[in-house]
Amino acid sequence: MDKEGILIVVSGFSGAGKGTIMKELLEKYDNYALSVSATTRKPRPGEEEGKAYFFKSKEEFEKMIAKDELIEYAKYVENYYGTPRMYVEEQLKAGKDVILEIEIQGALKVKEKFPDTLLLFVTPPTAAELKRRLAGRGTETMDVIEYRLGRAKEEAQGIEHYDYLIINDRLDECVEEVHRIIQGEHRRVSRNQRMIENIKRDLKGE
Ligand code: ADP
Ligand code: 5GP
Repeated sequence: MDKEGILIVVSGFSGAGKGTIMKELLEKYDNYALSVSATTRKPRPGEEEGKAYFFKSKEEFEKMIAKDELIEYAKYVENYYGTPRMYVEEQLKAGKDVILEIEIQGALKVKEKFPDTLLLFVTPPTAAELKRRLAGRGTETMDVIEYRLGRAKEEAQGIEHYDYLIINDRLDECVEEVHRIIQGEHRRVSRNQRMIENIKRDLKGE
């Protein structure tokens, strides 16, 4: 197996369960590293600096853009969100599979820059269940929930750009499925060129 890790983007409607799935995946398996984004959004209750996000002012965020410290960034519901470059590059080199939990504009920018990126799209089984989860989380006002549902309609148009659809019905099954898909991706021929070359060379030597 080639040593470098896989870059994985996880997107999906707000409230689909991305954060919940990632938390379980990281608790269960060692080889994943979750990138922590920078944002100008205010922290929700319980969100810690450097764990949920690096919380920045607009000025600080714009400085990061100017210094090319972000792999990608996008505006979502009036706030900036972006992926710090250094952590991602270090972890990939160390052989970790690095997960970016980002929205669709950012996902497409990452795919353009790094065509090997695996794109996963998370959805609940139905739209009604999405509404229930968004309201059930209790972290947003009705206005923001409405806005996020509107945004979900737009994002649904982009699902075709993704490699796999992840249906988050039963959480434990969903986590296993994500893990299996990523492990399968490691076996892709195009990701194993070094090993293939070695086998060919050794066969010639016989
Ligand atoms: P996202 O990160 O995609 O915005 P969250 O992980 O915050 O979504 O999940 C939204 C809400 O749905 C949370 O209250 C979470 O506990 C709940 N949730 C997540 N996955 C499931 C699931 N498989 N079944 C039922 N509820 C879920
Ligand atoms: P939330 O405010 O619910 O934490 O995130 C809102 C949206 O921004 C989600 O779809 C989330 O995946 C996305 N997001 C989080 N971090 C980033 C990032 O670094 N870049 C981009 N493009 N989107 C992000």
